[in-house]
Amino acid sequence: MKRKTKLIHGGISGDPHTGAVNVPIYQVSTYKQEEIGVHKGYEYSRTGNPTRFALEELIKDLEEGFKGFAFGSGMAAIHAVFTLFNTGDHVLLTDDVYGGTYRIFTKVLARLGIESTFVDTTDLEAIRQAIQPNTKAIYVETPTNPLLKVTDIRAVADVAHEHDLLFVVDNTFATPYWQNPIPLGADIVLHSATKYLGGHSDLVAGLVVVNNEKLAEDIHFIQNAVGGILGPQDAWLLIRGIKTLGLRMEAIERNAHEIVTFLSEHPAVSKVYYPGLTSHPQHELSKKQTAGFGGIISFDVGSDEKAAALLKKLTYFTLAESLGAVESLISVPARMTHASIPAERRAELGITPGLVRISVGIEDIEDLIEDLTKGLNS
Ligand SMILES: *Cc1c(COP(=O)(O)O)cnc(C)c1O
Repeated sequence: MKRKTKLIHGGISGDPHTGAVNVPIYQVSTYKQEEIGVHKGYEYSRTGNPTRFALEELIKDLEEGFKGFAFGSGMAAIHAVFTLFNTGDHVLLTDDVYGGTYRIFTKVLARLGIESTFVDTTDLEAIRQAIQPNTKAIYVETPTNPLLKVTDIRAVADVAHEHDLLFVVDNTFATPYWQNPIPLGADIVLHSATKYLGGHSDLVAGLVVVNNEKLAEDIHFIQNAVGGILGPQDAWLLIRGIKTLGLRMEAIERNAHEIVTFLSEHPAVSKVYYPGLTSHPQHELSKKQTAGFGGIISFDVGSDEKAAALLKKLTYFTLAESLGAVESLISVPARMTHASIPAERRAELGITPGLVRISVGIEDIEDLIEDLTKGLNS
């Protein structure tokens, strides 16, 4: 099955009970048992629900994994994965991970005695140096947010497995349409499905895919024991969103290419961050590892005031957190998504006050360029 076909026919295509071409919303909490313990595979919807199961099968197929799991948010998915670890365990993470990931590690998991170190995962030597006797996992986000650094998934998988570490990849930005970490050696792939997979800014969800039976048992145990599941309505809406992921990602890719060209030539822009640029430090790796460069572009306009002035003039770019939807969104990471990261740490990472991040949508490119022209000329 090719990629766009898989988005539509992957997982459980249609409802086996009625022939309905879509799996319906099974809005149900419990299931009749013929005798004690004799049932049709479902007992209670925290443990399993047919609509959620259809989504879980779909993401498993898209990521070429062994089993998929759906959670109430990306953060619930990340939390479930790190509930695999114990007090005293240590995790290595990409230094400019999503702000919420930084927060859960430094403010929640740290309190439970799960230690973390943030390293530049584009540097294999830095990873090797940071491995401690109690290190249990490497967690990589690639490309990163908002600086779009690209980590070599296959190379880090090799380092992780040399040291018997679990290798986890947050694949939110690239999506399974452009990048599949499991065939490259990841043990677990996770998503904030709130972004491109949902694609319409209408739901919050998280997905996890594991590559073997033992991890599947462990994550299912946690999903059921802790209970941060996705409800059937949102599971259904997410399946619906995923059907057009390919069309959306390709339209976004075309628009992003035009916007990057425009920004690179604009005198008010001092720097553009995008893996598709030949000047991007990991451009060659990106070309090899992903089938598309994605729809996130960051650029520097020099100061907080200039960023604010740009935002005021825009019509089609909506000022909002989040990304990955049909509508173009714009944000200032230092003041919004990355505000939970201390200022000194932001400076270290290069998240300057004038850094602007856009999530390219599928509007007509002429309108988007006109909008940015107005904003940048202000
Ligand atoms: C948004 C996001 C998350 C968190 O997901 P939620 O669905 O908001 O809980 C995690 N990782 C990345 C890369 C994200 O962009």
